[in-house]
Amino acid sequence: MALLSIVLPAYNEEQNIANTVRVLSGILKEHQIDYELVFISDGSGDGTFREIQQAAAGNPCVKGAEFSRNFGKEAGIFAGLEMATGDAVIVMDCDLQHPPSVIPQMWQLWQEGAEVVEGIKSNRGRESLAYKLSAGVFYKIMSALIKMDMNASSDYKLLDRKVVNVLLSLPERNTFFRALTFWAGFETRMVEYEVQERQFGESKWSFFSLMRYAVANATSFSTLPLQLVTIMGMISILFSVILAVQTLLNFISGTAVEGFTTVILLVLIIGGFIMLSLGVIGHYIARIYEEVKGRPKYIISKVTDNVTGNVVGEWKK
Ligand code: UDP
Ligand code: MG
Repeated sequence: MALLSIVLPAYNEEQNIANTVRVLSGILKEHQIDYELVFISDGSGDGTFREIQQAAAGNPCVKGAEFSRNFGKEAGIFAGLEMATGDAVIVMDCDLQHPPSVIPQMWQLWQEGAEVVEGIKSNRGRESLAYKLSAGVFYKIMSALIKMDMNASSDYKLLDRKVVNVLLSLPERNTFFRALTFWAGFETRMVEYEVQERQFGESKWSFFSLMRYAVANATSFSTLPLQLVTIMGMISILFSVILAVQTLLNFISGTAVEGFTTVILLVLIIGGFIMLSLGVIGHYIARIYEEVKGRPKYIISKVTDNVTGNVVGEWKK
């Protein structure tokens, strides 16, 4: 019988773990799906890992690991994918904002041959205005850069073992899970779901962490900002040619001193463009630097008793 793994990244979610295990195992047992729940505690400062361990002691289908520090949700997802042994793997939030009632549907589509089942948000749940605005800007920019509609897409998806192996074989460290499944291709189906309200605790994203996430993902998936630098350079060259002609004409007609304002403006504008461009290029160099260092995406410090493994994410399954 086929095994379904569910990967659940958790950061300071001690209040959610027990409840999530109860809800998920209930649904999966009801639909007679063989399952395992893989919790990755992302360097939580609270009792998240203790809760995971307790759940694992009470239910052999639960296992998990703890990171040595907070590595971010992406790292959590990839650690979970690495640890999962299922023929199909679902990634979902552990706060039950991704409704578990969709799981049987995803499973059904997978059995019918789908290799990727994308969870598509039919609403965005209840969010603060600031969050809505920043998330809105974030998805607009992302969709334009990646050329995929990111607004409705989410990290809630089912992946076939084949796709999981493809993602795990990617050498890059700066991953963007949500877009990588589009990039990988495969036979994809969609399932719509309504974002639920968070059960316990609060959202782990601040405005700044979301912005950092946006920039990191945009640069990991697109080189358009670099091309924009070239385009801006060309535009300023065009302006310089026009102004050069004007300046020369002024010089010839004997009214040269008058252009002082233009000089100041030009220095400011061109200076600004150069700084901005250097910033963009610097950002890409930083990314290259990170990749070249080749450090692991995450470090595991603890695993539940039913898992044996070391600290950098290589398990003996
Ligand atoms: N999360 C994580 N590491 C982080 C931040 C979040 O593993 O650094 C997990 C979190 O525990 C949750 C999921 O990612 O399971 C989504 O986070 P959250 O619910 O805070 O985001 P939101 O639903 O508000 O977008
Ligand atoms: Mg959430």
